[in-house]
Amino acid sequence: MQVHDVELTISAVEENQYPATALPELALVGRSNVGKSSLTNVLINRKNYAHTSGQPGKTQTLNFYEVEHKLYFVDVPGYGYAKVSKKQREKFGKMIENYLTTREQLRGVVQLVDGRHAPTEDDRMMFQWLAYYHIPTLVVATKVDKVKPNAHNRIVKVVKEGLGAAKDQDLILFSATTKKGAESVWQWIEERTGV
Ligand code: GDP
Repeated sequence: MQVHDVELTISAVEENQYPATALPELALVGRSNVGKSSLTNVLINRKNYAHTSGQPGKTQTLNFYEVEHKLYFVDVPGYGYAKVSKKQREKFGKMIENYLTTREQLRGVVQLVDGRHAPTEDDRMMFQWLAYYHIPTLVVATKVDKVKPNAHNRIVKVVKEGLGAAKDQDLILFSATTKKGAESVWQWIEERTGV
């Protein structure tokens, strides 16, 4: 999709702040620093709309971006924060859990993992949690410009194995630097949301 119009509609900390529309929603999850803001900026065709974070774990709200008046991207706080207290972590955990398991408009989740390394235990837990709730999930392996092309097939294998995913799991290799994979990610989103 060629995006011209995008608006950060709301940074929500509570359910009653979520948008009161029926537009389909697509959530983006991943550990802090994995490249979520960078992927979002590429998808919406902006340089720095979603803020790329120098400070891991700073985003502590559900951010709803309305895209082309057709759908919402929902930026979910990065898991595996080091800097927030246990109490905060539990609170955000509950908000995320409620959102992902009860939101009717949610059509799917894009889970980002760092394509340069094997998935972490946090990545695996998140993936398995989404699978348990039968939430359609696209895995996006980020920063693949940092991996030699002849090792790209290996990323696919390592990521799927590390997450405990099936062989036919949807997975796209992505780079915000070269924009490799951007069209395929959009295609998956369009199929899931029907936009
Ligand atoms: P977020 O915390 O998940 O939103 O991650 P950011 O999008 O802020 O990215 C974290 C860091 O990784 C930043 O320094 C980015 O410039 C860098 N980064 C993100 N995507 C890529 C990529 O595709 N290739 C490379 N080489 N660096 C990336």
